[in-house]
Amino acid sequence: MSRVEEQIRAEIVEAGRRMYSRGYVASNDGNISCRLDGERLLTTPRSVSKGFMTPDMMVVVDYDGTKVAGDRDASSELPMHLEIYRNRPDVNAVVHAHPPLATGFAVAGIPLTRAVLAEVITTLGSIPIAEYGTPSTAELPDAVRKYIKAHDGLLLANHGAVTCGTSVLAAYYKMETIEHFAKISLVARLLGGENLISRGEVERLQGLRGSYGIAAPAPLCADPTAADLVDQVLCQVLEAPESSGERLVPDAAAALRQASRDGEIRLTYAELTALITDAVKHLKD
Ligand SMILES: [Zn+2]
Repeated sequence: MSRVEEQIRAEIVEAGRRMYSRGYVASNDGNISCRLDGERLLTTPRSVSKGFMTPDMMVVVDYDGTKVAGDRDASSELPMHLEIYRNRPDVNAVVHAHPPLATGFAVAGIPLTRAVLAEVITTLGSIPIAEYGTPSTAELPDAVRKYIKAHDGLLLANHGAVTCGTSVLAAYYKMETIEHFAKISLVARLLGGENLISRGEVERLQGLRGSYGIAAPAPLCADPTAADLVDQVLCQVLEAPESSGERLVPDAAAALRQASRDGEIRLTYAELTALITDAVKHLKD
C-alpha cells in the first residue's frame, strides 16, 4: 500500500471519529469517501459506527461503484458520492452526515441561505436544500446533482447534509461549519431574528476569498428566482439586502414582528373558533 493511501485511510478514520464524537451521526450513519487515483476511490464500510473504524476497514471502489478491494461493502449512499465526483473534478473528498441542528433546518425546509456570518460567506457561501429523495435510490444523487456544481455544502431534505472538498479533512471541516452556522442561526432566530450582511459587504467578503486562499465555488446569481427553473444551478442564491451605506441590515420579517408586537392580539383556539362561528352565523342571517 502506498504512503498516500495509508494517509487517506488514516484521515478517513480521524474524520469519522470527530463526526461521531460531535454527534453528527448516530448508530452506523454517515459516510466518507476520497479519490485514490483516476480509477479508484476509498470509502467507509456500511454497518460500522464511523466513530470506531480502523484503516483496514475501508473499501476500494471504482467510479461506477464496483468494489475493487476490501473485506467489507460500501455504503448504499455511495452513488451520491460518485455523482459529486462526476460533477466536480476539483473535489477529492465527500462527507455525509446527519448533524442534528443542520438536519433540523433540512427537516423544517429552511435553507441556510442568509448572509449572516462573514466566515460562512467566504468559505461556503449559501447552503441550499436538495429536494427529498429516498435514501439509497437514484433519487438522492439526482437531487444533489442540481446544486453540487455551485455549492460545497448542501442540506438534504428530511435527511442530513453533504459536503465536499479538496481533502477528507477539508470536506469534514465544511460539515463542522454548516452545523455551527445552523446552531447560530437557530439561536439568532429564537432571539428575534438576524441582522443580515448587505449585498455590498458580501461582495467585498467574496473579493477577499482569493487572499485567504479559498477557491470560490460559484458567483452570486444575478436573478435569484431563475435558479429554481434550471436543471443544474451554476450560481448561488444568498439573502443579502441592497443597502446604501449600512453593512448590517435587520431582517425585514423580524423587524416587522418586532414592530407589530405591541399591537398583537392573542386568542385561544376556543376563542378563535367562537369568533369564526359567530361571524359565519351573522353571514347566514
Ligand atoms: Zn444519510
